Amino acid sequence: MNLRRTLLLILSLVVASTASAQGVKIVKNNINKDSLPEDAVIVKRVPLESGPAFEVKDVLVVDTIPSSSEGLNIVLYNDNTWRFVRNRNIDVLDETVFTKEWDTTKIQPFKVELKDIPMSMVIDLVDSLKSYHYPSKGRVTSKYGPRRRRVHQGTDIDLETGDPVYATFDGRVRICTYIRSGYGNLIVLRHDNGLETFYGHLSEIHVKPNEWVTAGQVIGKGGNTGRSTGSHLHYEMRYKGHTFDPERLIDFASGDLRRETFLLKRTYFSPYSRFTQDFEEEVQSDEEDKKIAKEAAAIKYHIVKKGDTLGRIAINNHTTVKKLCQLNGIRESSILRLGQRIRVR
Ligand SMILES: [Zn+2]
Repeated sequence: MNLRRTLLLILSLVVASTASAQGVKIVKNNINKDSLPEDAVIVKRVPLESGPAFEVKDVLVVDTIPSSSEGLNIVLYNDNTWRFVRNRNIDVLDETVFTKEWDTTKIQPFKVELKDIPMSMVIDLVDSLKSYHYPSKGRVTSKYGPRRRRVHQGTDIDLETGDPVYATFDGRVRICTYIRSGYGNLIVLRHDNGLETFYGHLSEIHVKPNEWVTAGQVIGKGGNTGRSTGSHLHYEMRYKGHTFDPERLIDFASGDLRRETFLLKRTYFSPYSRFTQDFEEEVQSDEEDKKIAKEAAAIKYHIVKKGDTLGRIAINNHTTVKKLCQLNGIRESSILRLGQRIRVR
C-alpha cells in the first residue's frame, strides 16, 4: 500500500468518525478499518476546527483526494498542511444561492422588499466544516445605524493599511469594484448560507468575481480608499440586499462568532435595531432561538441517487415509507427523480 493510499484511508477514517459526530450525512462510507495495514498509525487530530488563515498565493495545492463524504474533498498543500474543502460539484443545500440574482456588476441585484422577507429565519453560520473567520479583528470605531444625517449600513473596524482582510465564511466573490465617492475598493462575497458580506475601503483586492473563497482566505488588504478618513474596514452583512448589524454575529474585539446558528428576524433590518441596544431582549430570546434552531437542525434531507427507492431511503434513515410520504407530500407510488431532495427527518 503506497503512502498516498494509506494517508487517504487514515484521513477518511477521521472524516468518517468526526463527520458523523457532526451530523454530516455520509453518503458512502467505503472505508473498512480492517483494510488498514496492522502497523498503520492513525494520526489523531481535530479536523473540523476552522483552520488558521492562509494566503492561497503562497501555498500550492499538491493533491486533492476524496473523503468518505461526497461533499468534501481533502486538499493537500505543499507546506505539509491539509484541509477540508467543499466539493463544489456536489449540490449545496440551496443550489440557487449562487445563480439566482447573481450579478457581478450590480451591487444590489435583489428585488426583495422588506415585507416579503419572512418574520424570522434560521441561518446556519458554521456548518460541519466549522468555517468561519473574522474579517478583521479590532476596535469598532463606528457602529451600524443612524450616524449624523445618514444611516451607517455597516460596522467600521480599526486597522492599519496593509492588514489582511479575511473571507468570513465559505462562498463566492460577487463584486470587486472601486467606488470613489463611497466604498473605495470594495469586495462583496456571497456565502452558502445566503448572507452577503461587504468589505470596503480596501487598499488591495486579491480575488476576482465568480471565484470561490474559503473562510479565512485573505481576500484583500485593509486601507483608506473611497470616502474614508483613516484606515479602517467598512464591513456589512446583508440578506437579500437588506443590511443588519454585523455585531449581532461577530464580536470584533475578540474576532469570535457569537453564535453558530443565527435567528435572523425581520425587525433587525431596521437601522435603529442594533445589537447593543437589543442586548437585553437578545438574552431573553436566546432560549427561544435555541429551540427554533434545534428544530431546524433536526431536519435532514437525502438526495436521490441512482437505484434509490422510498423503501431503501426509509431503511437507511431508520424511518418508514409512510413517514417519508407525509414529510414530503408524496405518495408511495411516486417516482423519484435523480437529485431530488427528500426530507427524511
Ligand atoms: Zn463604515
